[in-house]
Amino acid sequence: MTAETFTFQTEVNRLLDIVAHSLYSHKEIFLRELISNASDACDRLRYLAITEPGLIADDPEFRIRLTVDKAAGTLSVADNGIGMNHSDLIESLGTIARSGSQVFLSQLSGDARKDMTLIGQFGVGFYAAFMVADRVEVVTRRAGETDAWQWVSDGKGAFTIEPATRPGRGTTVILHLKQDEKEFLEESRLRQIVRRYSDHIGIPIVWEGGEKPATLNAASSLWTRPKKDITEEQYKEFYHHVGHTFDDPWLTLHYAAEGVLSYTALLFIPSSPPLDMFHPDRKSHVKLYVRRVFITDDCEGLIPAYLRFLRGVVDSEDLPLNISREMFQRDPRLARIRAGLVKRVLDELGKKAENEAEAYTAFWNNFGAVLKEGIYEDFENRDRLIGLSRFRTTAGDGLVSLDTYVDRMKEGQGAIYTINGEEAEALSRSPQLEGFKAKGVEVLLLTDPVDEFWIPAVGRYRDKPFKSVAAAGIDLDAIAGGETEDKGETEAADADSPELAALTKALGEALAGQVKEVRLSRRLTESAVCLVAGEGDMDIYLERLLRQHHKLEPGMATLRVLEVNPGHPLIRRLAGLAAAEADAGRGVLADAAHLLLDQARIVEGEPVSDPTGFARRLASVLENSLPEPATPATGDA
Ligand code: ADP
Ligand code: MG
Repeated sequence: MTAETFTFQTEVNRLLDIVAHSLYSHKEIFLRELISNASDACDRLRYLAITEPGLIADDPEFRIRLTVDKAAGTLSVADNGIGMNHSDLIESLGTIARSGSQVFLSQLSGDARKDMTLIGQFGVGFYAAFMVADRVEVVTRRAGETDAWQWVSDGKGAFTIEPATRPGRGTTVILHLKQDEKEFLEESRLRQIVRRYSDHIGIPIVWEGGEKPATLNAASSLWTRPKKDITEEQYKEFYHHVGHTFDDPWLTLHYAAEGVLSYTALLFIPSSPPLDMFHPDRKSHVKLYVRRVFITDDCEGLIPAYLRFLRGVVDSEDLPLNISREMFQRDPRLARIRAGLVKRVLDELGKKAENEAEAYTAFWNNFGAVLKEGIYEDFENRDRLIGLSRFRTTAGDGLVSLDTYVDRMKEGQGAIYTINGEEAEALSRSPQLEGFKAKGVEVLLLTDPVDEFWIPAVGRYRDKPFKSVAAAGIDLDAIAGGETEDKGETEAADADSPELAALTKALGEALAGQVKEVRLSRRLTESAVCLVAGEGDMDIYLERLLRQHHKLEPGMATLRVLEVNPGHPLIRRLAGLAAAEADAGRGVLADAAHLLLDQARIVEGEPVSDPTGFARRLASVLENSLPEPATPATGDA
């Protein structure tokens, strides 16, 4: 049988291109990637061998071997792990098949600089070999199978696969080093790289270049070692290994729980958000081990979805080894471990929030939106999670806790006021906030879609209900303070004013079918108009979110209430016009009604309903506001 030729998936080519051109400063990490793969391959086979011991009976000691051939200029990394068969090879070394890679691929921009940063977060894995080699061979044999295969590529678009021979199971990666990469043939250099990046690997990495084999790493899994023997650098490298990531950990949490259940946890919180944070599967990435044997990195039930930003390992002493992955998820002991992990993580977050507010802000900006999912998903920890939550408010740039907010509520303020939208800066300029600002009442600026879910679920905090400033029935009069102390009387007068009554009636008629109601506002101080939700109606922003996610019937839209500011000069003049009941004013009033509604919609971030009509009315109003030209602009006078 001759070699078959395959082409790489387009995205692999893109990756290889970037690898070849841009990653020079870190090229030694190719070895970390290959050793990491070898170690994963051993982990996977060790797990299979629990139920099928025959798979490793001929060679039970796992190890990774490094050898060089100086004459040929090759470096080999060999493992006796699970190996790959023909289809594994095509799938694994021809595509980017990792979990989360879809997100990665969708974000590749083609701009080498940007893609580099992405890769920095994501890692190049096996393809890193092409940073130092102009030809890579992989000879591999899957455990339990007899056929071996050789995969070869120069990293330029294609690879070949052909039958080969290999005495035992496992994979050997042979790098034909580029002319100026011969430093990777030297024992001292290799030893240094292994110590630096791969010391935490739990199986021996053996150098077979000298008189007798030498083990280069400590060969015990990092989390099994005493904390005092582990340097920050080692934690960091381990984090890179388990997390498939290259930033620094924002938090490192390493502890052994003893008692009814014994387990060791080594968990990290990243300092920059992983790419798949908002992927719909909301998968956790913490690896589960049982007595040092890797079980799965996808154990539902080990970590709640709202802590899916955690990376690391949990190694249990008690869970049984010989049950299926699916069975673990139903083991009540797993739920107990989870409760313990959640408690410890929230404890640590609490300490950071209290003692290192600035660092906590960085965490919150990355993961606050994820953590808040727990407020409605984890009833048991609801209060703690609310306590850990931070908010932007109209009071300033910093982040505020709900306790701080409630502590400084105004006298007579009965509710925690909120406003929702996409972006805090724009929200803080919303007309609906004018009355609150005038009174000095603080409002939470909510910009995470998840806020639409946990707030209704919680309802109130410290006995104060949450209330949207865009909801019906806002009454600011009861609240002390502000420049509008005597507003109560003016408002009573406004309500009785026949002119204003005529105006709301005329506007209501002109906008029939487009608004639910037109009424005088008690929350506007500067703007002429704003839109608010009617009694019992869906929140305006929530409806927009649902529409964006196609969760609403097409065409379905709740009619809103148009509030007009009785103190605004424009509204006063229009009121005079409405009261005069002169027919000449009707057309102007109708145009004004539509323009006021469109203006309110624009401020709300909604499109105007009839752009052509909007343009025509605006032009006509502008035209009427300008003086007639003294001499005709055109013509032949
Ligand atoms: P990752 O390790 O993140 O999955 P890599 O690019 O490093 O991504 O490797 C791609 C895939 O190739 C691995 O997921 C694995 O299936 C396969 N692979 C790589 N090296 C080995 C090896 N030494 N033994 C078995 N499979 C391997
Ligand atoms: Mg890898």
